[in-house]
Amino acid sequence: MSKSNEQKSNGDPHRLQPGRPVTLSDFSTRGRDFCDDQDAAEAEFVDLRQELIELQRRLYAEGKRKLLIVLQAMDAGGKDGTIRHVFCGVNPQGVRVTSFKQPSEIELAHDFLWRIHQAVPQAGMIGIFNRSHYEDVLVVRVENIVPEDVWQQRFEHINNFERHLSDSGTTILKFFLHISKDEQEERFNDRLSEPDKRWKFSEQDLVKRRHWDLYVPAYEDVLTRCTTRWAPWFIIPADQKWYRNLAITRVMVETLRTMNPQFPSPQIDTMPGDLD
Ligand code: ATP
Ligand code: MG
Repeated sequence: MSKSNEQKSNGDPHRLQPGRPVTLSDFSTRGRDFCDDQDAAEAEFVDLRQELIELQRRLYAEGKRKLLIVLQAMDAGGKDGTIRHVFCGVNPQGVRVTSFKQPSEIELAHDFLWRIHQAVPQAGMIGIFNRSHYEDVLVVRVENIVPEDVWQQRFEHINNFERHLSDSGTTILKFFLHISKDEQEERFNDRLSEPDKRWKFSEQDLVKRRHWDLYVPAYEDVLTRCTTRWAPWFIIPADQKWYRNLAITRVMVETLRTMNPQFPSPQIDTMPGDLD
């Protein structure tokens, strides 16, 4: 059995198991290994998204628990597209997206989790992190922004922080959108050739692409050291957007089904017709 197959033992095929070393080349970037019928996948996705809309209404109405979705990927990995497609139709009042960019001066004057903690979802909400505290052991490591002894400690800090959130009623799902280097090239070329996408391309994208081979072990460390019972990572094959959308929605819907949020009981015993 390949390493990626070993990892597939617990329910979802993309969910990693704590304590098992991750080698990204063992994981396909194409969903075809799991499902090759795009039409069927798109139909299932639409049904599941409808269910997500219903489940989110209940989570919001119940107002007790929280769901945190963490999205990480190489550049052009599809974080924005995932948010646009998967959450299309979900009541915006119950969802908060936070995109973590280069830290501001005031953010840098605090510990690395300070800005993250302020963005975690409150009761009844789904919080989506477009990039996250993982940048502090990814870009920060690859670009030598802080010394190694500083970022090395952060894996433990992150696990403890996520444990704290989990113990405080937050369900955490972390998705690594796994694309190939060739797919990234195609997407960058698209960005460069289409006027309405060109603005998205930056110098940083070029620098990071040159450092692709440094990001791979950095991601492998993240996926190996920060996969926990309380905050699992999923490696989502993301070269095909239709597969990525389906796989992520499936995990979210299954998680919310298990959480089974309930509409609260009515606050007063009034029925239609009782009004003056
Ligand atoms: P897109 O895919 O649309 O380009 P993006 O997430 O790459 O979106 P950008 O504004 O292009 O957004 O880039 C944000 C940049 O901020 C990324 O290069 C990211 O690595 C960087 N960044 C995020 N967090 C940190 C951090 N803690 N330290 C340093 N850089 C960070
Ligand atoms: Mg970018």
